[in-house]
Amino acid sequence: MSKQQTPPPAPAPPPAEAAAPAEEKPEKKEKPKAPKRRIQVHKLYKVGDGSLTRLRKECPRCGKGYFMAQHGDRLTCGHCGYTTYTQKG
Ligand SMILES: [Zn+2]
Repeated sequence: MSKQQTPPPAPAPPPAEAAAPAEEKPEKKEKPKAPKRRIQVHKLYKVGDGSLTRLRKECPRCGKGYFMAQHGDRLTCGHCGYTTYTQKG
């Protein structure tokens, strides 16, 4: 077995940067965008045998059709901002 060892091509030296401007600009930090989550409506209902149950509580302010989002310790309405805290014993 003859191994041909060829030296890796020398990378071109980086071009000397032009004289950097004296003024320093604060670098803009780009916030990583979280992927937009679409509401999964099918998770809000449970269809049983000829019956339908809503898994989320409805907003008392907005009425029917407005479900409260479930968080760790609270329920929040995304429509009006109504928040109720759930107490877990
Ligand atoms: Zn509401």
